[in-house]
Amino acid sequence: MSVYKLVCPACRKPMRIRTSTGQTPCFRSIYYQCTDLLCGATFTGSMTIDFELSPSGIERPLLQLPVAPGMERLKATRNLRDCNAQPDLLDQLEASV
Ligand SMILES: [Zn+2]
Repeated sequence: MSVYKLVCPACRKPMRIRTSTGQTPCFRSIYYQCTDLLCGATFTGSMTIDFELSPSGIERPLLQLPVAPGMERLKATRNLRDCNAQPDLLDQLEASV
């Protein structure tokens, strides 16, 4: 598990999430606070879940997001590679003659 380290944009020291409010299942408003006593800056922002990278394993997920455009491209590239990796029947016949 990786932990994203928040950095204060004003002083580059560590920053913490003071509180957050869930607006929707995929959107939270977040309030940040710099941990440096001299700086003490506070910020607000948001955290969103925008796309699906892999589908849920449960039968009826409460929400289905669109698949990330990069994942569609990756799947298409893999499918194309798999198709090209299959032996060609005509090539096999010519090789046996
Ligand atoms: Zn700061």
